[in-house]
Amino acid sequence: MTAPLDVLVVGAGPTGLALATQLRSYATPFRIVDRSLDRARESRAPAIQPRTLEMLAPFGVTDGLVERGNATVGLHLHLPRRELRVPVFDVGCDDTPYPFLLFLPQSETEAVLSAHLTARDVTVERGTELLTAEPEGEYVTCLLRHRDGTEETVRARYVVGCDGAHSTVRARAGIAFEGYAYPQTFLLADLEADGLEPGAVHTYMTAAGLLFFFPLGTPATWRMIAMHPPGAPGSGDDVTLDLLQRIADDWTPDRPTLRDPVWMTSFRIHNRGAAHYRKGPFFLAGDAAHIHSPAGGQGMNTGIQDALNLGWKLAHVCRGAAPEELLETYEAERAPVGDGVRRLTDRAFTVGTSSHPALRLARTRLAPHVAPLLLRATGARARLFRTVSELGIHYRRGPASVTGPRRPRQGPRAGDRLPDTPAGLQRRVAGPDYHLLLTGPDRAWPEDPPLDGRGDLVRVHRLGAQSPWPGIAHALVRPDGYVGYLTRGTDLTGLRAYLDHWLPAP
Ligand SMILES: Cc1cc2nc3c(=O)[nH]c(=O)nc-3n(C[C@H](O)[C@H](O)[C@H](O)COP(=O)(O)OP(=O)(O)OC[C@H]3O[C@@H](n4cnc5c(N)ncnc54)[C@H](O)[C@@H]3O)c2cc1C
Repeated sequence: MTAPLDVLVVGAGPTGLALATQLRSYATPFRIVDRSLDRARESRAPAIQPRTLEMLAPFGVTDGLVERGNATVGLHLHLPRRELRVPVFDVGCDDTPYPFLLFLPQSETEAVLSAHLTARDVTVERGTELLTAEPEGEYVTCLLRHRDGTEETVRARYVVGCDGAHSTVRARAGIAFEGYAYPQTFLLADLEADGLEPGAVHTYMTAAGLLFFFPLGTPATWRMIAMHPPGAPGSGDDVTLDLLQRIADDWTPDRPTLRDPVWMTSFRIHNRGAAHYRKGPFFLAGDAAHIHSPAGGQGMNTGIQDALNLGWKLAHVCRGAAPEELLETYEAERAPVGDGVRRLTDRAFTVGTSSHPALRLARTRLAPHVAPLLLRATGARARLFRTVSELGIHYRRGPASVTGPRRPRQGPRAGDRLPDTPAGLQRRVAGPDYHLLLTGPDRAWPEDPPLDGRGDLVRVHRLGAQSPWPGIAHALVRPDGYVGYLTRGTDLTGLRAYLDHWLPAP
């Protein structure tokens, strides 16, 4: 049997690839396996949120994504007898270098992450399936089956299930996946649609149901998603271009001509969450931990951010730089995020699809009058965009977010993400280390702030006027870009207590 691993990553969808990217940046000994022989070629999630772009930036991945994607997509809302043009993220997203929804098919996102790993000598072991995983002593004994049918036993300190909705890791860990399936069926196709204004998301809200066209680029120009009309044929592989064309003719005034489908299918949507994100040596991330409606484009993004919350914690614990307790913060921080996404997408889905007479009336009669007023309510729109962009995610109530004796009157709080500034603060404060930010005049601070031998793990930045906090303050930013500790003044006692707890001196 080979030497034990620190981490076995099961599943190489966007969540597993993001986790591997982060573990690689720490040189943590790990392997990543996926039972499918090839990357998913279907477009699936078509968009990346600003916070995901921010979190992938320190690894050098984001520029490649932005280069390949389309950042200028607007939203055309087609209501009965009215069309509205909705700018996306024009308010509420002014403190990010990426104030846009990046349209890029999931297959391309996975291609960029895979190429990044290949360039760093990480092999994604495709055609390798996790069959069993049993904790034995300090390791989990895992049985893998390779594409040629041979089996291999590996031991790993931690096993992370990034293995999707039907997670083997979740089943092996005995973690329940509770929730429900929605009654509606949806039709999906990647195809060409002549007659649609290009470069926009088109949403048609009708009495009969909802219809979307998303701009994809590859492998086809458009992704069409429509509610399956009750009584109409077509499920699974039976979805036909004729049926889709009938829906487009009946539900849109533009009646685009559909042609050249490269993928047609139907699907049902579930809303489910794992009862735990961690059980002993097992962790769940991405669809293995939460699935929900695609409304709002949150699924893949939440999975990638789960991974980037977990990877640095595993890396620090495995190299002995942090206590095991740091791993407990993963569920404490990410389960509320997953639950929030399930609630948000459930509300959006119910309003958009319910056949309840009151909601049908709201969609067809009220929406054309109310929607323009809502669009003019800048504050409400900013709050909505802050949530959808995932820039508003915070861990203020998490165990690793500590405010010192004097909270700054303005600026981000402990548990918030570090915002960007016009001088590019996020780019400066990035990388696999912790970052100590000293704000106010330089003379307020000692030449070498005492880090008690943690100099390799904590980088010091003197921000001067670039600081998001007024006056003299200091903050410790975690490797994932969230503020761990924060206080006004120059007394470092609280900071040292925080470091002694979460990053004990060697
Ligand atoms: C039609 C559609 C539209 C969507 N639209 C959006 C959207 O607009 N925005 C958004 O954010 N999300 C969207 N999603 C959701 C998004 O695709 C998923 O959230 C995302 O793929 C989850 O990534 P993951 O890595 O967690 O899981 P997956 O992508 O499911 O990857 C899991 C991987 O684990 C592997 N695996 C499973 N079991 C084993 C095993 N035992 N051993 C080894 N490997 C295993 C599988 O082969 C797979 O490659 C959409 C999904 C669909 C289907």
